[in-house]
Amino acid sequence: MTIRRTLIAANWKMNGDIALLDSMLSVIDSEGVISDTVEALICPSFTLLGAFDKQSNVCLGAQNVSQHDSGAYTGEISIEMLKQAACEYVIVGHSERREIYAETDQIVAEKFVQIARAGLKPVLCLGESLEQRESNFTEKVLAQQIAAVIDASDVNDWAHAVIAYEPIWAIGTGKTATPEMAQETHAFIRENLRSHSKTHDIAETMRILYGGSMKPDNAVDLLSQADIDGGLVGGASLDPNSFISILKAAS
Ligand code: PEP
Repeated sequence: MTIRRTLIAANWKMNGDIALLDSMLSVIDSEGVISDTVEALICPSFTLLGAFDKQSNVCLGAQNVSQHDSGAYTGEISIEMLKQAACEYVIVGHSERREIYAETDQIVAEKFVQIARAGLKPVLCLGESLEQRESNFTEKVLAQQIAAVIDASDVNDWAHAVIAYEPIWAIGTGKTATPEMAQETHAFIRENLRSHSKTHDIAETMRILYGGSMKPDNAVDLLSQADIDGGLVGGASLDPNSFISILKAAS
């Protein structure tokens, strides 16, 4: 049986400050919720990366990275900069980046490779819109999003990757996919990874997180599904009590 260490990841988006970061780390560390089976990750704003207490048991991640190494890209951040800031994970392909900042599947794939080849761990976000789900295009959309990254990457680039399935219609809306619906889609994603030669061997160990209004009251049901290996949490990760409750639900 494969043991996939549950990952509960906080995506703070353009929220949070030093006080929240400090209280979040001290609550998580003192509650003893991190274990061999549960990992916690916080992805705060870039300005908070340097304020992260490196003694903490919580992992540090970034919400975005440039696909370029360096140069005249005003406002962007490079993978080397994130590495120097001691980031371990980087979120890539979040639907807000895809939709608001017009990041195409191709750009997402370039960023994924940039992260993996720097030795950091990509958290690759996938997800369909409400319209796509209602037109029965969910699997087609997810397969395309995965294929774009597979085409641009090598087998080794997938070694430490994590996938986050985030139905766009469930993000920040309070609507959650039912556990059964999420499980069905996660199982599809794992099967899709198995079907590609570059990801065949890591499909079973790949952690597939669910994202989309995960909260303390739905976390247990979602996390108990066979192919749901954690959560990418937005709104509920801004409140230490809620985030701790989700971490407890994972243990
Ligand atoms: C997210 O944006 O990654 C997310 C899952 O947000 P929320 O939990 O607020 O729906």
